[in-house]
Parts: sequence; C-alpha cells; structure tokens
Amino acid sequence: MSKPRVIYWFRTDLRLHDSPALKAALDLEPEVFYPIWCWDSHYVYRARVGVNRWQFLLDCQNDLSQSITKLNKKSKLFVLREPAVTLLPKLWKAWGITHLCYERDTDAYARERDDEVQRMAKEAGVEVITRSGRTLWDSDEIVKKNGGKPTMSAHQLMAAGAKVGEIPRPLDVPTSLPDPGEMHLDKLEQKVPEPAPDINAHHRADEEKSYAEGLAGPKGDFAPPAFEELGLKAATTTIRGGESLILKRLEERIFSDEDYIGTFAKPNTSPAAFEPQSTLLTSPYLHFGALSCRYLYHRTLDIVEKRRKAKKPVSEPPTSMTGQLHFRDMYFAAQAALGWSFGQTYNNSHCRFIPWHLPSKVDTKTKLITGGYEVDDPEKEIQFQRWAHGKTGFPWIDAIMRQLRTEGWIHHLARHSVACFLTRGGCYISWERGAEVFEELLVDHETACNTGNWQWLSCTAFFAQFYRCYSPVAFGKKWDPEGDYIRKYVPELKDMPKKFIYEPHKAPIADQKMAGVRIEGDGDQEGKGGLKSYPKPMFDFATQRDICLEGMKNAYHVGLYGNNPEVMDGSWKALFDDAAEGPTKGKQGGPAGLDTFEDADGAEEDASHQKPPTLKKVTRSGNSESPRATRGHKREASQGTLDGAFKKKAIKKEA
Ligand SMILES: Cc1cc2nc3c(=O)[nH]c(=O)nc-3n(C[C@H](O)[C@H](O)[C@H](O)COP(=O)(O)OP(=O)(O)OC[C@H]3O[C@@H](n4cnc5c(N)ncnc54)[C@H](O)[C@@H]3O)c2cc1C
Repeated sequence: MSKPRVIYWFRTDLRLHDSPALKAALDLEPEVFYPIWCWDSHYVYRARVGVNRWQFLLDCQNDLSQSITKLNKKSKLFVLREPAVTLLPKLWKAWGITHLCYERDTDAYARERDDEVQRMAKEAGVEVITRSGRTLWDSDEIVKKNGGKPTMSAHQLMAAGAKVGEIPRPLDVPTSLPDPGEMHLDKLEQKVPEPAPDINAHHRADEEKSYAEGLAGPKGDFAPPAFEELGLKAATTTIRGGESLILKRLEERIFSDEDYIGTFAKPNTSPAAFEPQSTLLTSPYLHFGALSCRYLYHRTLDIVEKRRKAKKPVSEPPTSMTGQLHFRDMYFAAQAALGWSFGQTYNNSHCRFIPWHLPSKVDTKTKLITGGYEVDDPEKEIQFQRWAHGKTGFPWIDAIMRQLRTEGWIHHLARHSVACFLTRGGCYISWERGAEVFEELLVDHETACNTGNWQWLSCTAFFAQFYRCYSPVAFGKKWDPEGDYIRKYVPELKDMPKKFIYEPHKAPIADQKMAGVRIEGDGDQEGKGGLKSYPKPMFDFATQRDICLEGMKNAYHVGLYGNNPEVMDGSWKALFDDAAEGPTKGKQGGPAGLDTFEDADGAEEDASHQKPPTLKKVTRSGNSESPRATRGHKREASQGTLDGAFKKKAIKKEA
C-alpha cells in the first residue's frame, strides 16, 4: 500500500514544539510532507490588522520556515498566495494528496472556512486529521462538559476542565521532517482574490501587491511576502515575532528566574512598567501559536511544584501565571460556544444590553454587526476619536493609548483603565468601538480574549460590579507617582512637574511655560512660541462618572440581554424612561447614558468597602423574564487584575 501524501496546513500554530496536529501528521509516516500556509485575503483586506501585527506574523513565518529547513534542507514553510477554500482542492489534485492535517481553530470565521474545507475534502476523498492545541483544553470539549454553554467564569472553566481531563504534557520538537514532493505549479492557476473593500487601506502607503506575482510570489520561492509587498507603512513596534525568539527569552529571562515565575501574581505587576514590562509579554506569541500555551503552563507548574516541595513561596490561580492561562481558556470556550454572536451585543444571549453611544449597525437578516456604527451624538464621536488617538487630555489614558498605537502591546491593567474609561467609566461609548480599535492595533489581538475582556470591563458579561471603576488620575498615580510612564509616551509633558503630571491643566501658566508646553484646545493644536501643545481634559471626569453610574444602574435594572426581543426589534427604547435614564435621551432616540464611580479624592473604588448601589426604579413594560438575568448573582473571584484588587507594591522584573 502506498504511503500517505500529506499537506500540513499551518494556521494558528507557527511552531514546531508541542504541536499535537503536527505530531498526528508525522505519525502517518508520510511519503511526502508539504508544510504550507494559505495567504488568506480575509486577513489581508477584511479583518482589522495594523502594521505591527503584520510584521509580527511575517517574523513568525520566516522563523518557522528556517526551523523547518534546519530539519530538512529541501523543506520550508511554503506560503501560497491564495485563500484555502479555493486553493486546497487544486493542491490535493495537483500533488496527489491523501491527507490534510491542521490544528483546530474555534474562531467563528475559521470554523466556517474549515467546515467548507472539510466538505470539499470529503468530496475529493482526502482524509482530514485535526487536533486541538491552541488552548490548554480542547475548547469544544470544555463546552460539552459545561452543558453546551459558554464558560462565563473561571469556576465553570475549571469544573469543565476537570471533567475533560489532565492538561497534556507538551510534546517534543520533531527531529526530522519528510521531504516535500514536486510542486507542479504549472498545473495550478491562481485565483486572485477581490481586494475591495480593503479595511486596512489606511495603513498602506503603496498598493497592496501580495497576490500580484502568482502563487509562489515574486521570486517563485514560496517565501512569506516581504513587508513592502503589502504596501504597508513602516511598523513602529520593537516587539518582534518568532518561535525561536520567545523560547530563548523564556529560557534566559523567565524560567531561569524561579522567584519571579513561581510567585507571579498579576495584581502585583505594574501597568506603568516599561523596558522591561512587568508581565511576560507572551500574548502575541500565543496568538500566532509561536508559543504553545501548554508548554508555558507546564514549565511554570513544574517550577511551582519544585518550589512547593522546597517550601518556598508560590502563587496560586487565579492570580498566578497558570491562572492567567485559565482565563485565556475561559474566553476561548465562551467564544467556541457562541460563535459569531460572542463578538457583538446584538443577538448575544450572554451580553447585557446597555444603551451605549456609537452603537454598532446591525444587519437584521444575518443578525450580525456590519462593521459600521451609528453616530448618535457628534460629541461622542469626537470623544471616541480623541480616546483612540491618545488626545483625551487625561495623560494616563493618553499615554496608554499612545503606547498601544506605537508598540501594539499594553499591560493588562492599562487595558482595564482605557476600556473602563471608554465605556462605563467615562464616555459611555459602546465596548464594540473599543474592541475594534484594539483589534486593529494590538500585536496580540485574539478575538476570544479581546471580546471577552471588553465585555468584562464594560460589565456586560463575565463581571458585573459596575460601581467599581478606574480613576484616570488616581489609579496611574498609585503605580507611578513620578509619572515616568506618561513622560515616555506623552513627550509633550516630559518636563511637567510631578505635582501636575496627571492633571497638567491645573498647572499655572508659568509652570506650563517652564515645562515647555501649553495646555490648550483639543489635541489638534500645533504649539507655538517654542511651546508644545497638550489638550485640556475633554470633559469633567466627576460629572461623567456620575452620569455613567446612573446609566448603568438603570440599564441593569431594565435587565436586557443582546438576544431579548426588545433589543432585536429596537423596542428597547420604550423601556428606558427619560427621567429614569437621567441625562440619556431614553425614548427619544439613539442610545445614550453615562456613569462611573470613584471615591472622593478620585481614587479607584475598592470593592471590599463598597456595596452595590440600590437600583433605581424604572418604568418597564417589557420582558420581565430576561433570559439568564444574573442580577443579584454572586460573581466569583476576579481575574485577579480586577479593579480594586491591585496592591501598591509593584514587582519590577529585570528582564
Ligand atoms: C480590554 C482588554 C482587551 C484585551 N485583549 C486581548 C487580546 O486581544 N489578546 C490577548 O491575548 N489578551 C487580551 N487581553 C488580556 C490581557 O490583557 C493580555 O493577554 C495580557 O496583558 C498580555 O500580556 P502578557 O503576555 O504580558 O500577559 P501575562 O500577564 O504575562 O499572562 C500570560 C498569558 O496569559 C494570558 N492572559 C493573561 N491575562 C489574560 C486575560 N485577562 N485574558 C485572556 N488571556 C490572558 C495571555 O495569553 C498572556 O500572554 C485583553 C485585556 C483587556 C482588559
């Protein structure tokens, strides 16, 4: 009997270590083995991907390709420039393929694509072998053991995980790879994908040309596209990708520091730390699969167990490193259960409906958001743009948003600060707007984690203590009283005295002059007379805070979820009484509302001293049996990085 002819399709697993799908492919003892990547136009044109994430992906592909070549001189990562659904059937035929192997991907888009590929493979008589390897446990198995429901808490995840079984130990890197067969490109005609609409056009300085020179690219060598081929403007981040890079860094700087990893406690890590950051910065590598999460998990656990035996201090979930990976799995399994609806409010059974400003436009036929949004209030659009570009006039928020734009990565608590500020703790703008900006700018953007965390921070799912809120002044000050982080990312304020660094608009004109900056306008001023310009705060935070809190109280009291009939047909407006809704426009029109909470001197609220506010009575004629209404339900312990859960002491890791 002839031996299998195998395509290994790399997607979410740009690594050779601990890859269950790769092992399954090699266990077939193939006659020929083609490691390929299908260059998918969905990501090139339709998904929001900024320059820094593109660079990171290309780094990972080039690194993997070199590692493959080290195992077999004739082989590499063959990047073929066409989406999988049109390309793979042609390859099966031209290369006489018997088996297709890949790591499972539970993202909504990937599922649809893979279902189609599986259908076509069946027709073509190609056997498909898939394995889970992107998460600690198989997300679909977790959902099954959770009664078919999304995991909405770490407790649910752990209970389901215990039923699925032990998290497997990581697999070794293969020691050899079989040869690829002939490529027979002459038999293949490239189907060039349609570029319009190109959602990433604003990132390009030149025309996008990655499909212009055929399936094998301009040199005919199947190399990953050069950055220039994508027509992109230059990347700005210092964070570079690749399996070999992250494994080396973990070995040299993280696992070798057993005190650090063994006692890692997320709430003790500083959001203001930079060069080096206070956490591991593994998220982009985990996203592209350049690092296996099971590898990170077990290496950490081994160190923890060793320390435990030696009676040395150790940290425990949920705040420990392994606890962080549990949260990641929780979001993946929630997404695996809910599919497309997980990424939006509309038609999402688990996402609370809040009448946010700038709501997503929806297609009522498909029940999906369209990618556009309604500008219900022009002032809110201005606030959103100022937030997105780091020009709010709140230096802590602006520093974070500018780090995000430049580096593509920010600390978890920094993400908390800006997400709370945009939604329930400042602007009362839809979390979906913020998630889109993160989707574009993060090097580690992961749909499951991004969506889930935005829902957590906006108190629309996973977390409900909306009265606990971040102050844009006091929170940063606690971590970084000198304001070094602000001075780094908001250089206009570099010389501002410590006393005013978090609130420069309070600095007298003489101090502003001494610091070489003028606090004025909305962030679009050029600066003059040798002085730089930095904006005034875009609103009075205390006022916004009260408005937001009032809005949240009322929305919680109304108690709608994204799939309630009132949300689906727009009749929710009748449930939000003008008076009850305070400053929002209630019945009269578009979404609105506002709130936030902080204590008298602007400090972040500490939940241990804070009782939930009494909910205000509202006029409500609608659905009193809102599905899964969890009002009064006791939420479990937080992500450990929770509002209010941090301690002042910051562990500054010397990386
Ligand atoms: C609004 C918001 C959006 C976010 N968007 C993303 C995203 O798109 N992609 C992403 O990977 N993470 C996201 N996170 C989660 C978290 O902030 C990052 O994973 C973390 O900051 C990455 O830095 P690190 O690798 O140094 O993390 P560490 O603290 O060193 O943790 C190690 C790993 O655990 C995982 N992890 C840690 N915290 C979380 C968490 N809360 N949720 C899920 N996984 C976690 C990450 O994979 C991370 O690399 C988001 C958080 C918020 C509040």
